[in-house]
Amino acid sequence: PVHRSPEMQEERLRLPILSEEQAIMEAVAEHPVVIVCGETGSGKTTQVPQFLYEAGFASDGGIIGVTEPRRVAAVAMSQRVAKEMNLSSRVVSYQIRYEGNVTEETKIKFMTDGVLLKEIQKDFLLRRYKVLVLDEAHERSVYTDILIGLLSRIVALRAKRLLPLKLLIMSATLRVQDFTQNRRLFPTPPPVVKVEARQFPVTVHFNKRTPLEDYGGECFRKVCKIHRALPAGGILVFLTGQAEVHALCRRLRRAFPHARRRPPDGGPGDAPAETRRFKKARARARKAQAAALPQISLDSYSVLPAGEGDEDREAEMDDEEAALGSDLDLDLGDDGADGGEEPPDASLPLHVLPLYSLLPPEKQAQVFRPPPEGTRLCVVATNVAETSLTIPGVKYVVDCGRVKRRHYDRVTGVSSFRVSWVSQAAADQRAGRAGRTEPGHCYRLYSSAVFSDLEPFPPPEMARRPVEDLVLQMKALGIERVVNFPFPTPPPAEALLAAEELLVALGALQAPPKAERMKQLRTARLSCPITALGRTMATFPVAPRYAKMLALSRPDGCLPYAITIVAAMTVRELFEELDRPAASDEELAALTARRARVAQARRAWAGRGAALKLGDLMVLLGAVGACEYAGCSPQFCAAHGLRYKAVLEIRRLRGQLTTAVNAVCPEAGLFVDPKMPPPSEHQLTCLRQIVAAGLGDHLARRVQSEDLLDDTWRNAYKTPLLDQPVFIHPSSVLFRELPDFVVYQEVVETTKMYMKGVSAVEVQWIP
Ligand code: ADP
Ligand code: MG
Repeated sequence: PVHRSPEMQEERLRLPILSEEQAIMEAVAEHPVVIVCGETGSGKTTQVPQFLYEAGFASDGGIIGVTEPRRVAAVAMSQRVAKEMNLSSRVVSYQIRYEGNVTEETKIKFMTDGVLLKEIQKDFLLRRYKVLVLDEAHERSVYTDILIGLLSRIVALRAKRLLPLKLLIMSATLRVQDFTQNRRLFPTPPPVVKVEARQFPVTVHFNKRTPLEDYGGECFRKVCKIHRALPAGGILVFLTGQAEVHALCRRLRRAFPHARRRPPDGGPGDAPAETRRFKKARARARKAQAAALPQISLDSYSVLPAGEGDEDREAEMDDEEAALGSDLDLDLGDDGADGGEEPPDASLPLHVLPLYSLLPPEKQAQVFRPPPEGTRLCVVATNVAETSLTIPGVKYVVDCGRVKRRHYDRVTGVSSFRVSWVSQAAADQRAGRAGRTEPGHCYRLYSSAVFSDLEPFPPPEMARRPVEDLVLQMKALGIERVVNFPFPTPPPAEALLAAEELLVALGALQAPPKAERMKQLRTARLSCPITALGRTMATFPVAPRYAKMLALSRPDGCLPYAITIVAAMTVRELFEELDRPAASDEELAALTARRARVAQARRAWAGRGAALKLGDLMVLLGAVGACEYAGCSPQFCAAHGLRYKAVLEIRRLRGQLTTAVNAVCPEAGLFVDPKMPPPSEHQLTCLRQIVAAGLGDHLARRVQSEDLLDDTWRNAYKTPLLDQPVFIHPSSVLFRELPDFVVYQEVVETTKMYMKGVSAVEVQWIP
């Protein structure tokens, strides 16, 4: 039995899903697979696991498993459910890639869908689970889609063995026909239980014009108008990325400051002393500046030109959620109080909170708490607030209509972050956030004509990204003909082909005899069997190219180095973004000095001679080595321009990869050495060969002077994959070296095609 507190019980009873408990549990009793649809906030994620628990699905050793596409949600929801049920985190636990609190006593386990996929490799029948809940299926993440395909088979196998497994698929939208009407997936269509949420009417207001550039500024103006003119009720703003979110938070805090100083975020010690000193100096400078400003009549002050262009530059550099993390967080502490460029407004204070995936959980939790007395809540969010998390008390939604997505070129693998229009379905989800507790309003910062041109639904992720990692995992699971797999929506044939080709090139799959291969290529139905190397590669939780590097590294004592390099490449964005605009001359001076120091550190890590040839990967190795040697302190990271969070993730992944390597090769006897000595000359050569083997298809050759077609090709490289010139990124230590042949980690398109993570290779290694 569950002992909930009376307040908690009362709160639960208000959730629409409570009235469907019986319908859901009856469907689960009668059918192996059930789909539950209900609006965001109706209580699916928090309540369904509790229904299952109370119905006995966690008795006699069974576990209730719940998968989430986002780490944020796995952690937050396990904590919330533990609290509602009055159970400890030993019983209601979570597991995400790098961490978890699962114990022997765990009964309800929240995890990311990637974690469950790995478990399927260990035990295809998933015998520990009596029931699995796949949450947020409407998001159509690749892992969710693969899991649905796999589980459709696992459920059938478990039934044959008289060990029934129940599967619940939960969606925030009613668009589930890819699951119900796909006979290959589920021969008997699963029943759909709809949860009727008490959704209040939301009035949608379109802009007359559609700002093409400055939607951040438009958001700011709209929030100001709402706050000054409209009755109480929370405001939720949708922007596309972390940098935009922070920029708008700053502007709003300046415009509507709290009377008292906000307590500083985070305890002492998490901001390096140097930064604090510099902030104090900046605050003093700003106060002096503010005192000197002329008084402006606030009534006539509606357009605020200050600081505009900055946001766009910041947004461009905002590598989805990753790049800017740590130092932007530090910025929050003082901005509420010290004026700055925006003249403060005399009206009600605005309680402004940011929300995005990489925000630390403590800060995320703030959005669930009521705002301080006499203030209005304003949450500025990325699309995490669209369906994963429900924010209470929102009456006004401001929607910029855009979303930032990683865009892949399917043939070349080139990726770029693009801000694009949302789908109509996503826009309606966003609007719906305003009508949870009373009738609300949604302000769309674009015209109704633009809306009617939007695509009706977002394409599933499976249709948009490279699938080589999935194909390798599936082959390791014994699925030889990936084309025949019951995908809810199959990936494009050319993406599957490209994946098989790459895996054959890496030696993970066996190329069929030539005649057979031609036939398969003609019919676009490749089905290459996995090799022993491929099997080993599949046990490493990293992309196939990196897995190949690990699988090759055994003989030369290079493994600890290869593991470190692979961990650092996988975590991405080890280095803080220092290329950002400065708010004042003082800040500019400090930034410039820091950039110079950090550049010097990078050159030192890169070394000379053989080490320098390993290039940016040597910098990664040197940075992680030096940081571990110094005990990984936040101070060290701040002083050397490293993201502390990335450093910790790399450490965890090194541990994980070391365990994985020891598992396939026990005689290696590896351990994570915090005092790893630098690699020897011989090891460096081996490492470069290993890197060349893993990144072999990412080869680029410097354009020779005789090939120079015109100026655009100066210092350019040619790759087999692209017709355009590609360049070594200016942040690379090889930017000035310009080796004849290089391999690169990725090509990212910004103003040009830039190679990142560059290493020099020798011609004789090239296959
Ligand atoms: P769904 O999964 O259907 O979107 P949830 O189960 O996530 O709905 O949320 C149900 C309710 O619980 C919402 O009203 C939400 O505001 C509330 N809730 C969820 N998480 C928390 C939390 N950490 N703190 C307070 N309330 C929460
Ligand atoms: Mg949910």
